[in-house]
Amino acid sequence: MGKGSRQSKEGDVEVSGGADQEVLISIKSLTKRYPSSAEGERALQDLSLDIQAGEMVAIIGTSGSGKTTLLNILGGLDRSYEGSLTVKGRELRALSDRALSSWRNQEVGFIFQHFHLLDHLTALDNVLLPACLAKGEARAKIAQVERRARELLELVGLSEKIDVRPTQLSGGQKQRVAIARALLFEPSLLLCDEPTGSLDRQTGEEIIQLFKGLHQRGYTVLMITHEERLSEVAERVIRLEDGHMISDEHTGSQGGEG
Ligand code: ADP
Ligand code: MG
Repeated sequence: MGKGSRQSKEGDVEVSGGADQEVLISIKSLTKRYPSSAEGERALQDLSLDIQAGEMVAIIGTSGSGKTTLLNILGGLDRSYEGSLTVKGRELRALSDRALSSWRNQEVGFIFQHFHLLDHLTALDNVLLPACLAKGEARAKIAQVERRARELLELVGLSEKIDVRPTQLSGGQKQRVAIARALLFEPSLLLCDEPTGSLDRQTGEEIIQLFKGLHQRGYTVLMITHEERLSEVAERVIRLEDGHMISDEHTGSQGGEG
């Protein structure tokens, strides 16, 4: 997805799926062995798959099946693997450290089970944190970025909580802040590691609806989870077991009402 089409995510223009889909991520024969693991043991074994721009994918597997390992590799946090991983046609491993970290900051939004917010900062400052850490251009645009951060907090339903610190927010509200933070630089990919894992069922459901809404705005959403029920909301469900991909199904879920 080019910068132009990505801008439509926040506008009224509907981002079309289907015919004009492009491959965002392509994995070929991806295998991961941790240095400390036993001989012959692989956290990921010979995974091949493509993810199209704009897809909403759930990767489901029990604990230890390789989900976090896969997410770390997809997000460019771990480059010691065998096989190939290209993002928008670029081999991730071939990027310099600097290019990789700039790609990660600009193109990937991470969302974690435990939110990873800083308790001494307000919701707004937590959302702005990636801009404060960014260098160069992104940093220079901080005034614009602040406006966007406020809009994002509104988008996730937290316009009343902009100046509140995480200690005064519920789990679901914290996750909303984390989602707004992940969206700050309009990433082409949202990578979510057990995003509902710390939430009660009802709150988890609301967060899933929020992801569905983002998907409808054109974001590519990749969620990894051990929760079976997420298989009902994604359009595509990939199952991992002991590092192997055991199925990859397009469920045809429409992602709910708009
Ligand atoms: P999941 O997220 O599905 O629970 P992980 O990707 O965390 O699974 O782990 C997959 C396998 O890799 C497990 O057998 C786990 O013990 C192993 N593993 C994960 N991280 C490391 C690590 N840093 N060093 C060695 N082995 C690891
Ligand atoms: Mg995990």
